[in-house]
Order: sequence, then structure tokens, then C-alpha cells
Amino acid sequence: MSEELLYAGKAKSVYRSDSPGELIVVFRDDITAFDGGRKDVLSRKGEYNARVSAHLFELLEEAGVPTHFLRLEGPARMRVRRLAMVPLEVIVRNRAAGSLVRNYPFESGEPLDPPLIVIDHKDDARHDPMVNDEIILALGLLGRAELDAMKALALRVNGVLLELFGACGLDLVDFKVEFGRDEWGRLRLGDEVSMDSMRLWSRETGESLDKDVYRLGTGDVLGAYARVAERLGLEM
Ligand code: 5GP
Repeated sequence: MSEELLYAGKAKSVYRSDSPGELIVVFRDDITAFDGGRKDVLSRKGEYNARVSAHLFELLEEAGVPTHFLRLEGPARMRVRRLAMVPLEVIVRNRAAGSLVRNYPFESGEPLDPPLIVIDHKDDARHDPMVNDEIILALGLLGRAELDAMKALALRVNGVLLELFGACGLDLVDFKVEFGRDEWGRLRLGDEVSMDSMRLWSRETGESLDKDVYRLGTGDVLGAYARVAERLGLEM
């Protein structure tokens, strides 16, 4: 690729594009877990995440959630609006799982109604510590009104995804999203919305169809991702 690489994360690379307000995100086949402690390459994983993300971004836009998505330009290549990212991971939880069960006395799978919003500060060196509203405001990451707007957007994303996955027989347990400000300062959903950043449990069998298959080493990761794409009606 001739474009200039601006940033390489654990599973995606961001390149400058031919237009100053737009970037190219390439979804790579790398998969990591445990703070990068485990790493592998899974052929076509980037394509699955790019395709599912693009589909979900489109549906979210239709539902009134502003996103950075512009279009797919190849199997794993997405053109997006340039955002100034807010270094927060906004996690919405409909059932208890993962770190919530490890750190607090919740039962795995316990329904959380209303859904719980948990926010982590994106800071690899400090292992992404959980923050609360006061810490976010004190760090100057967002103002009160923007923080409330970000949470409301995250819940709107949850509403759309719950309905969509529910109709496909999948239980949306939790997911992580990231937001940024566009050139007018408006909050938009950025990053990705894919099987790498959510938990999906099959309603029939209870099995995980997401990155937990990799984290827990329980089976065929790509097969699980392919089943989600198929349930969403995406031809790959
Ligand atoms: P947990 O806090 O239980 O590890 O994660 C909660 C949810 O957010 C899961 O769906 C998980 O995949 C997602 N998540 C949390 N942190 C990250 C992260 O750093 N990267 C990605 N891709 N997803 C994350």
C-alpha cells in the first residue's frame, strides 16, 4: 500500500487517504488477547470484522447514530471520517460476563436490567483502568454534557444491536465502543463494532460466537466469526 501509515493498533492499521478529512482503516488478520500476551494470525479474520462492522455502522447510521463509516473499499479496507478520538472504551453490558464476573460478585450470564455502562481509560501502560464520571471530568476528557451524550449514544447502539442480534438468535451479552469528535466537534461512533469487541452467545446452545473463543481457546475462532456473518445475512 502506498498510503502513509499513521497508526498501527493490535488488529487494525490506519492510513492517510487522498482526502484530508478521511482515513483508511485496514482490518488485519492479527488477533490478540491478554493485553497482547497472546497473538496469532487468522486468515480472513480482518475481512469478517470489516464486513460485519460496515454492516452494523450502516444500520446504526440509519437508526440515527452518527458514525465514522463512509464505505468499504476492499474486503478488509474501510474509508472513514477522520475523528479526534476520545481515549475511552465505553462498555455496555446486558449480562454479566468477563471482567465483571472476575471483579465483582455477579453470576455469569446474570441479566443486567437496565444495562450497565462501564468506562475504561484507554491507556495500555496502565492496562486500561476503569474510570468513573468524576475521573473523566477531572482528566478533561469530556465535559458533563458530552459525557451524558456519549452514554446516551452507547445505549442507543445497544438498543439497535440487541434487536438485530436477537432476531438472529444471538444474545448480545456486552460490547465495547469508542467515540471521537468530527471536524465540527460532534461525537461520532468510531473504531469498530465487530466480534473482536463484543460477546455474542447462541440462544440455542449458549456457545460463544466471538473473541472469547480465542481468549478461552475453546474452538474454531474463524468458524464462530463466519457464523455471525452468516446469521446477519452477509455473503462473504
Ligand atoms: P471485559 O471487561 O469483560 O473484558 O470486556 C467487556 C466487553 O468489552 C467484551 O465484549 C470485550 O470484548 C470488550 N472489550 C473490553 N476491552 C476491550 C479491548 O481493549 N479491545 C476490544 N476489542 N474489546 C474489548
